[in-house]
Amino acid sequence: MPPPDLSALAARLPLRPLTRFAPSPTGYLHLGHVANAVWVWGIARALGGRVLLRLEDHDRGRCRPAYEAALLDDLEWLGLEPDVGSVAEFRSGTSPLRQTDAGAAYAAALERLGTGVFACDCSRKDLSREGGDVLNEETRYPGHCRSRGLDPAPGRGLRLRIESGVERFVDARLGPQEQHPDLQCGDLLLRDRLGGWTYQFAVVVDDIRQGVDLVVRGEDLLGSTGRQLLLGRKLGRSMPPVFLHHPLIRKPNGEKLSKSGGDTGIRELRAAGAGPAEVLGRAAWLTGLQAGPEPLEPGELASLFAKG
Ligand SMILES: [Zn+2]
Repeated sequence: MPPPDLSALAARLPLRPLTRFAPSPTGYLHLGHVANAVWVWGIARALGGRVLLRLEDHDRGRCRPAYEAALLDDLEWLGLEPDVGSVAEFRSGTSPLRQTDAGAAYAAALERLGTGVFACDCSRKDLSREGGDVLNEETRYPGHCRSRGLDPAPGRGLRLRIESGVERFVDARLGPQEQHPDLQCGDLLLRDRLGGWTYQFAVVVDDIRQGVDLVVRGEDLLGSTGRQLLLGRKLGRSMPPVFLHHPLIRKPNGEKLSKSGGDTGIRELRAAGAGPAEVLGRAAWLTGLQAGPEPLEPGELASLFAKG
């Protein structure tokens, strides 16, 4: 599949669109993250748009300061500069783009959802026992607590009622899509039983309040687009972001890369003597943006997406 037609994409976006690079500091950067960055920065630069850097550290249990420091260091080393949200601000703890500092924004968004939200005391174990319908290896919430009228007490999660219906959108690379969030995930978890905001909720709230127009992410996340569009609408977003899902880097045996995959870690590649241009070129090659692993400077990323 050739790179997407950026003329068609530009026609759906404002003049200087805002996209985002939003890693979670739950591990070290690997080639999969760099591939995402190549698509994000390349498309943003080709469209004359801007890149926002957000740290998705909502999962306090899995995030580590050491991962965050390494992530910022690797981004600088790669020469990838965000236009909104500087590395220096994250380092000094003054960035407004960190999810752990956004609790008030998430609480306000929750209020806006009103009566569609209900408390749920099901554990993960309960849900896997009940089974639900499993589509794409997802466990669907069977609606157990929907009508129980539980108080949103500590120790209980919060879910958004998802009615049956179809979400239609046009992915900027994969074309028209149809999804059924009610069959895929059922009532959407917004806050877990420990009081932590979920990834799906935090991301949608952030994309709205930060004015993100274009979401460029890996194909593995395609299935959650419908629920994000639906949630955004319920939160009052009239103009949804455009989504573009890019190919994932896979190992030669077809497996997905993992964060622990030492063979493709940026730290390992750096230690082995690879330069930033080599790493960018390799990530572009492995996601089909160039014919071979030729080195690429950050300033050359836009050329991968020249308007046709
Ligand atoms: Zn429940």
